[in-house]
Amino acid sequence: MDVLRPFDPWKSKLCTCMPKYSFNPYTGCSHRCIYCYATYIPRFYQLRKKRRVVLRLERDLNKVDLKIPVSMSNSSDPYPPVEKKEKITRNCLKVMKDYGVKLLVVTKSDIVARDADLLSEINSCVSITITSFRLSRLLEPDAPDPEKRIAAMKELKDRSIPVVLRLDPVLPLLTESEVEEIVDRCDFVDHVVTSTLKLKNDSFKRVVRTFPHIEKQYRKLYSRENRTGSYYYLPEKIRREILFKVEEACSERGISCAFCREGFEFKAESCDGQHLLRKYK
Ligand code: SF4
Repeated sequence: MDVLRPFDPWKSKLCTCMPKYSFNPYTGCSHRCIYCYATYIPRFYQLRKKRRVVLRLERDLNKVDLKIPVSMSNSSDPYPPVEKKEKITRNCLKVMKDYGVKLLVVTKSDIVARDADLLSEINSCVSITITSFRLSRLLEPDAPDPEKRIAAMKELKDRSIPVVLRLDPVLPLLTESEVEEIVDRCDFVDHVVTSTLKLKNDSFKRVVRTFPHIEKQYRKLYSRENRTGSYYYLPEKIRREILFKVEEACSERGISCAFCREGFEFKAESCDGQHLLRKYK
């Protein structure tokens, strides 16, 4: 396979995803989120177009098990601003529709709503990330405003496309106070998946450079004892407190909730919204 790969979230033992393929129409990402986990990829914040990606996708789709969903995208965003003009992702969707792909879209962009016509004809589910209203400009400098993302979610829902809120990651001391408000504003979604911030050395530096007032506390919170694989995790007690706050907010509104790479049980049928695909068709 070439552009489709088995999904492997950085070999995390804590991943609860059912099998799926990963597909990135673009390389790199121009949203420049400071907490991004994929910045080990060279020149990551410089978005690059993939050569003949639509053709390569089609070639791969002939080789894979189409019962297994495709997740687009996990280490980039399928809807960077250039997609408005380039329509590369849109052309990939046309191919996926022809092949009967089950599709999980993951994005931070409202441009996804442009493709509601195609997505409503694909067995698809769209996850849109919102981490904060107040700090989004600092956390995700070049991503669309969260209000636009909410409007896109509503538009997709109106077209009967299942929608997931990715409240991911929650940053201790910075965004944890906003989780109830975010769930409340998105109380129309079909499912919520959440996680606490995990840090690597490069993302740690970016976060404390942006928020110097929390550096001391972050150094204590993200200590060597809580290292899991190549990530620094928060202490378990704090992770539980944050995640259960989100879970409670969801349960009060009758929304299913799952955790991403946390190692805690959750009641939802899947973390990434795959259960919504089965319901949909
Ligand atoms: S949208 Fe995702 S891939 Fe792009 S910079 Fe932000 S976290 Fe990284």
